Amino acid sequence: MSEKTLDQCKEVVELVNEYLGHALTAEDRAAFEAHLATCPPCTAYLAQMKTVLNLASSLGNAASHAEVEPQLMAMFQHWHEKKSR
Ligand SMILES: [Zn+2]
Repeated sequence: MSEKTLDQCKEVVELVNEYLGHALTAEDRAAFEAHLATCPPCTAYLAQMKTVLNLASSLGNAASHAEVEPQLMAMFQHWHEKKSR
């Protein structure tokens, strides 16, 4: 059951860039936000991602999603494990 949740979460993680770049369709955006409403780890992930991207752009660096993702994914999976116990 938690695997299914994690599947949805992976989609959310993949869509974060598009979401923050306002590149999602209205439909995808609604689904994304609906998932966030039920999933605190994804909400936290999004908040972290925004912070990281803002920080990177304020430093004049192009934010590298690939660079921060492994770190955030680890944190995020940790939250899920905690939750399912
Ligand atoms: Zn989630």
